[in-house]
Amino acid sequence: MATTLSTLAYLVASVLFILALRGLSHPETSRTGNMYGMIGMGIAILATLFKPGMGFGGITLIVAGLAIGGTVGTIVAQRIQMTALPQLVAAFHSLVGMAAVFVAAAAFYAPESFGIGTRGHIHGQSLVEMSLGLAIGAITFSGSVIAFAKLAGKMSGAPITFNGQHWLNLGLGILLLVLVITFVATGNGLLFWLIAILSFALGFLLIIPIGGADMPVVVSMLNSYSGWAAAGIGFTIGNLLLIVTGALVGASGAILSYIMCKGMNRSIINVLLGGFGSEGGTAAAGGGDADRPPVKAGSPEDAAYMMKNAQKIIIVPGYGMAVAQAQQVLREMADLLKKEGAEIKYAIHPVAGRMPGHMNVLLAEANVPYDEVFELEEINPEFADADVAFVIGANDVTNPAAKTDKSSAIYGMPILDVERAKTVFFVKRGMASGYAGVENELFYRPNTMMLFGDAKKVTQEVVQALQR
Ligand code: NDP
Repeated sequence: MATTLSTLAYLVASVLFILALRGLSHPETSRTGNMYGMIGMGIAILATLFKPGMGFGGITLIVAGLAIGGTVGTIVAQRIQMTALPQLVAAFHSLVGMAAVFVAAAAFYAPESFGIGTRGHIHGQSLVEMSLGLAIGAITFSGSVIAFAKLAGKMSGAPITFNGQHWLNLGLGILLLVLVITFVATGNGLLFWLIAILSFALGFLLIIPIGGADMPVVVSMLNSYSGWAAAGIGFTIGNLLLIVTGALVGASGAILSYIMCKGMNRSIINVLLGGFGSEGGTAAAGGGDADRPPVKAGSPEDAAYMMKNAQKIIIVPGYGMAVAQAQQVLREMADLLKKEGAEIKYAIHPVAGRMPGHMNVLLAEANVPYDEVFELEEINPEFADADVAFVIGANDVTNPAAKTDKSSAIYGMPILDVERAKTVFFVKRGMASGYAGVENELFYRPNTMMLFGDAKKVTQEVVQALQR
């Protein structure tokens, strides 16, 4: 009876997790989706605590783990800056990877506790599951640590490449496969740790050559790996719910990687084997090229005046809006312009910001109506009849080098065609390039006006000018 109840509870939790994913696929239903996820997780925890055979010791350990992990998680969540979320997500992925490694080690050294045989005589099928969980977990861990360091600016975002890199990775991949097969055949302890070490090295080597504009795919790919690592843990400890949940995360991460690749017009193989991106860095104010026309800098008053007289304005948010936390005042600006009779639309590039969906979340937080927010393919044809493109903290996602410069790190990435608007305002602090490190020649175009300053401050000043 108790077993049936526990299985039923796991089934309900699985369905709730699927509903959560479905809800999270659209901003309007995302809150409900989150709610489903939380209820599902609550049921999963209770069902695990009251699982048949769970003694007092087991319950105490779980509660202690929840208390420690929950406290640390709450403190981190309260202190974290919105702009540090991408690296936090990468750090969390690394923990899932490490958990998979620990669980595999626990199962290897205490197989009796997992019902998978005895020390030295572990079932063949369990050795397969254990070695896969171990390898994926270790790759996820070291890959996520590198992604964390790159996103947090603790190491250069530029790709790190060297001669023979792809051959080395291929060789190590084959060696890993051989080790896994031999481990499954022999159950040897030394091989277990060799698999772990090799996988840690592979995770590191796979991520260091990916840089600049390709990082979104890394983030979503590691998200997917962490799901498969969790599914691996589920297999090892024989927990159906963890297998289902891990597979859901793994599959949705894979779909997200596909969407990101599509958004950047790259194939996943191209990203993994690429080592694209550039040296990063910034261009000097005014640009170093003597042939270039000087940039035109305007004031918030100029922008307010021109937008007051505009009929159609397309707002293009990017990472700088997130840094400045300018979304609220941006919406105030849009509200005032709507009162003046302007049509306002927001254009979202799939890789804008530093996380998939980053801009959508910020705009939703500022209560920007969903029907004013458009994806790249929908909005691009509209720039040609827009009076103003108001680019706030976005750079790479507007850079025409993606269309014209074959040697550029972002070549081939679809971009928002802001330059087709009659006037383009760029709100940013200086002439620095974006995350991909590629200079943006739009700043020098005759129809561009730079509004230098912090995005929030400049937009506040535009609002004040509009209110005068
Ligand atoms: P970019 O990184 O290209 O540009 C952001 C711009 O914002 C910078 O040029 C910077 O210029 C400006 N900025 C920074 N802080 C402020 C501020 N406080 N006020 C005003 N401006 C500011 O951002 P995009 O959104 O255009 O493009 C995203 C980039 O990040 C792409 O290359 C993408 O591939 C990459 N990426 C995306 C991920 C994702 O999942 N979305 C994950 C990892 C990377 P200045 O310093 O002069 O102010």
